[in-house]
Amino acid sequence: MSSVTATVEQPRSAAIDWDAIRSDFPVLDQEINGHPLVYFDSAASSQRPRQVIEAIQRYYQEDHANVHRGIHELSNRATVAYEGARVRAAEFFNSHSSDEIVFTRGTTESINLIASAWAGTKLREGDQVLITEMEHHSNLVPWQLLSERMGIELVFWPIHEGGESLDWEAFDRLLTPKVKVVTCVHISNSLGVINPVQEICRRAREVGAVSLVDGAQSAGHRRIDVQAMGCDFYTFSGHKLCGPTGIGGFYGRWECLEAMPPYQGGGEMIEEVGYTQVSYKAPPHRFEAGTPHMAGAVGLHAAMDYLDAIGRDQIAEHDAELTRYAYDRLSDMEGVKIYGPAGERGAVLSFLLDDVNANDLVEYVDKRGVALRGGHHCTQPLMKKLGVPGTARASFYFYNRKEEVDRMIEAIGRARRLFGSG
Ligand code: PLP
Repeated sequence: MSSVTATVEQPRSAAIDWDAIRSDFPVLDQEINGHPLVYFDSAASSQRPRQVIEAIQRYYQEDHANVHRGIHELSNRATVAYEGARVRAAEFFNSHSSDEIVFTRGTTESINLIASAWAGTKLREGDQVLITEMEHHSNLVPWQLLSERMGIELVFWPIHEGGESLDWEAFDRLLTPKVKVVTCVHISNSLGVINPVQEICRRAREVGAVSLVDGAQSAGHRRIDVQAMGCDFYTFSGHKLCGPTGIGGFYGRWECLEAMPPYQGGGEMIEEVGYTQVSYKAPPHRFEAGTPHMAGAVGLHAAMDYLDAIGRDQIAEHDAELTRYAYDRLSDMEGVKIYGPAGERGAVLSFLLDDVNANDLVEYVDKRGVALRGGHHCTQPLMKKLGVPGTARASFYFYNRKEEVDRMIEAIGRARRLFGSG
């Protein structure tokens, strides 16, 4: 296992010019339906700055060939770029080694891989997986598949009414030595709840369970230190942190990775193959069968550099201030119910109006250039628990401004005058 040596860029200490940063995002500079675009759907997918787009273009124009197998110059360059991205990701998440970073297509594939290759080979019938009631389908359905296949029991860690937090008394009751995996979302994409993952992982360890944190909504929004978090697995998606689609991955603690068999077979992941026997490479390559997404890794590397040049603490502060502003403005309106915590939360606001249905609202505000999302946000069981079919959701990132929140509030007011009682 090799250790990380590259240096992390220092965050800027001077005041940040958020307007200049916003101008790095070409896609934001356009009109939608005759109105300047307000993009409030970053929880689904963030936008990419010029720097990331150019890095991908440069890679294809100058350096592309297949990795690992070649000894010619271009293949070497592509290999250096791909493996360099792994070192960068290890730094970004502060893993002990770059060998603990596995690239996949994103959070969904990462969780499927871990559920199958770790839990699918270590758990036995009757073992329990403890999982919260606020999970995205991608941290629920893979466990349901495993449960169907192996007779593993899924135990659900309840949330409080209204979804403001997890029920810790229930956790104390449910966390027994029968639990072999504890898994939770770090920041809920539907509620904005920020779960205390360090404490959750610590408690999991106490009963000998492995912990998996779904980091899809946290990886690009705050400083992540997997060693301090104490998790066994932490998953992320590049497209939610200003990187390309189709690339992401997970951190896996070395002892866990080493104990896992391959997930898929093919090229790149083998040591030696005969007609009847095969030996596998060590992690992380053992889990990366086939030609990897090199251009994606290059873009991911550029995205991580970009976020660190701003400073992830500064991004988190910006997110928090903007979300607070939006929360206050929205809750000043009559007949609005906001789901999730009233205090600290991720950059996500799920809400309903008492007189306009969520889909009508989202469709209407789009006509005013405001991109919200309506529906169940891939958390159908959570919506049922909240007693609603879905919500409208505004989600923010560092390129958003308070003036855009004002535009959203204005558009919601218009929708109410048109459809509702306002
Ligand atoms: N987990 C959470 C909390 C998410 O918000 C999402 C995507 O919205 C995912 C998992 C799935 O991510 P991906 O579609 O990139 O695999």
